[in-house]
Amino acid sequence: AAARKAPAREPAYLSFDDIGGQEQAKRELTEALDFLVQRDRIQKLGIRPLKGILLTGPPGTGKTLLAKAAAKHTHSAFVAASGSEFVEMYVGVGAGRIRELFKEARTQAAKLKRDSAIIFIDEIDGIGGKRDGGQHREYDQTLNQLLTEMDGIQGDESPRVLIIAATNRKELLDAALTRPGRFDRHIQVDLPDKQGREHILRLHARNKPMGSGVSLAKVAEETFGFSGAQLESVMNEAAIYALRDESEQLTQAYLAQAIDKVMMGERMDRETSK
Ligand code: ATP
Repeated sequence: AAARKAPAREPAYLSFDDIGGQEQAKRELTEALDFLVQRDRIQKLGIRPLKGILLTGPPGTGKTLLAKAAAKHTHSAFVAASGSEFVEMYVGVGAGRIRELFKEARTQAAKLKRDSAIIFIDEIDGIGGKRDGGQHREYDQTLNQLLTEMDGIQGDESPRVLIIAATNRKELLDAALTRPGRFDRHIQVDLPDKQGREHILRLHARNKPMGSGVSLAKVAEETFGFSGAQLESVMNEAAIYALRDESEQLTQAYLAQAIDKVMMGERMDRETSK
């Protein structure tokens, strides 16, 4: 129902330049997107259309951002859903929602006069995890509907439709989803390295008053293992410390406190989920 109500306005597009690090993922993704852009040449060579790209990697590393940037890069309409929406649905509802999602993608493209549409499905494992002997009928129907829709995508239709899905747990996916002609392009989206972390911090510092002595390189050094989402939190928490102190700038000290806070929060989450 949410998909049906969505108004045909320009999505809040962001570009690959707004994503820190992830150079390899960006490169692989733009290469794959070329298939969408160069449709005519692809068809002449008899190459089958690319229908699905799977982004895999830990939470908060920018998979959603990459999907949105892919839409901007290819001037596509963009619709999104999360696999988690489907988990508790009654029989038939999930399949209907999938059908609606594809319909919505085509309607949005027509309204915005785009000749391609990207459907983003986050947490695809919520729909396409391994099936266990047909115990979950609803689940099967949803997955089957997704497979049917994907198989129905034509290389020469307008708009062209591409599905980008994301998961933290690729090994849980049903083999039917990863077969050739379905999600057969896999792109790994890893935790950022030091350079990537500095890049991400810089992007999130754009709208913040930074003290003159601040070294983001140092922050990057001290945040080994942090995801992009956690780095965004560090910048935000540092700004909150500044606010509390009635300071007009973020300092290295606030950033150091913020790193501790985010690290601590992470540890507490882990303890409580045990
Ligand atoms: P999940 O698997 O939990 O859905 P995700 O990989 O899709 O996570 P995003 O939703 O893309 O992660 O990222 C969450 C937020 O973290 C973004 O809105 C952004 O603020 C920040 N972020 C994550 N990765 C990056 C990045 N590479 N560059 C800049 N910001 C990032």
